[in-house]
Amino acid sequence: MSKSPEEVWNECLDVIRDNISRQSFKTWFAPIKPMALAQDGEGVRLTVQLPSRFYYEWLEEHYSSLLRKTVNKVLGANGRLFYDVVIEKDDAESGYDGTSMQLPARRPANEPAPRGVTVDAAPPVRSAPSPAPEPAAGSPVTNPFVIPGIQKVQVDSRLNRNYTFDRFIEGDCNRLARSASLAIAQHPGGTSFNPFLLYGGVGLGKTHLIQAIGNYIEANQTGQSVLYVSSERFTTEFVQAIQHNRVSDFSLFYRQIDLLIIDDVQFFSGKEKTQEEFFHIFNALHQAGKQIVLSADRPPRDIQGIEERLLSRFQWGLSADVQPPDLETRIAILQRKSEEDGIGVTPDVIEFVAHNVKSNIRELEGALIRLLAHATLHKREMDLPLAREVLRDLIKETRVTLTIEEIQRLVCGYFSIPEDLVRAKTRKREVVQARQVAMFFAKQLTQHSLKTIGLHFGGRDHSTVIHANQSVEDQMETDPKFRHMMEEIRHRIELRSR
Ligand code: ADP
Ligand code: MG
Repeated sequence: MSKSPEEVWNECLDVIRDNISRQSFKTWFAPIKPMALAQDGEGVRLTVQLPSRFYYEWLEEHYSSLLRKTVNKVLGANGRLFYDVVIEKDDAESGYDGTSMQLPARRPANEPAPRGVTVDAAPPVRSAPSPAPEPAAGSPVTNPFVIPGIQKVQVDSRLNRNYTFDRFIEGDCNRLARSASLAIAQHPGGTSFNPFLLYGGVGLGKTHLIQAIGNYIEANQTGQSVLYVSSERFTTEFVQAIQHNRVSDFSLFYRQIDLLIIDDVQFFSGKEKTQEEFFHIFNALHQAGKQIVLSADRPPRDIQGIEERLLSRFQWGLSADVQPPDLETRIAILQRKSEEDGIGVTPDVIEFVAHNVKSNIRELEGALIRLLAHATLHKREMDLPLAREVLRDLIKETRVTLTIEEIQRLVCGYFSIPEDLVRAKTRKREVVQARQVAMFFAKQLTQHSLKTIGLHFGGRDHSTVIHANQSVEDQMETDPKFRHMMEEIRHRIELRSR
């Protein structure tokens, strides 16, 4: 065997990297360590170390096929992958001693652990030991900060019952965030995702998702105290506690929570005393194996005014982001919302709204409500003309944000020509066409003047833009193929992710 385990694993990582998102790669594959490479009668076996049993379960559930194909590609058909799983404290009770247990990448259902089989073996089975048992109800409180003898108080979780996983539509924009949230809801404190930090822009479902974790646990695990609180409310209550000399009650209260959800932690910014209190609560809960879930409007590294030691703790577990929804997700969300609200919205109206309202989900909901209000108030059909009328302002707003450069990029991408050619002097036929088409869309879809548009195309005159527009309009009228192409390009521009 001439290669080292590192070399082989790096080759595997190269394959994996090409097949999944950067975020998933970073989360699931970057922490894996290559351990050993050995040859036996059955072929080559590569052993890698996983940081926890949870990783093992996750990899098996989501990536077993990718891993199998990768290993076969790198090590050949007889290549096999073995996992060394680092045992968390809780697992020690399940009968494994030592610091790690070996598990095969896949194992048929009845075979006792932990013997190896090839990754090619039989259907995928989730073969890790069952999760650590929940503490029995009434068992002594192990949190060192709770004074013995004090009963756990009943906590009002302050959750909005509508924010459930059932009502959360999954799309590429939120897939990792949703799966991680569900995993945490199923094993609070029992995954390596502690804390779990969900970040992303406004109206993208952060509050919904972190509350879904709370609602799930309340519905499925009695006796767990769940608390949802915004960072502002936490701050206000802390300040009041100081004023009324009740800081220790405040502190004690928080240390009894099993699942603490804090929304919008960026608002802790600049509030040093609050941060310090939260820091201690965080440590106490984390040490006691309690689950902490946080949200922020940006990645932790971009949050200003929060102490380094707290920021670094935010990143101990898993950070996942939510992105603006793509067209399919927007359509799915609108369909679901209109069903939930019992409003009959026709597919063409849904598609129109989804095409035009893109920045976030709150706006999408807002558009639907606005539409409904107008239809009821003016006793009108909820049809396309009404949608156009009602959403005119909203649509204008979103279109302003489309830049001429973006249009140039998308149009040139469509025609497969380098982007700078539309700004250059060349009069080659295909470049002229792309240039005219891009000018046409710049006029249609942005608020810029003809003069500004001309300037963006290599300092051309506004009359060139007028000419381009006429030429495009003429062709659209006379040439159905051209018209079809224009529709496709418009569609692409409208789908562009921001
Ligand atoms: P954020 O906290 O990120 O600003 P919210 O969680 O408040 O966003 O979401 C805004 C609105 O959009 C809420 O009414 C929420 O229910 C809804 N929403 C967000 N994401 C989804 C989704 N994926 N599926 C269904 N509804 C969603
Ligand atoms: Mg929110």
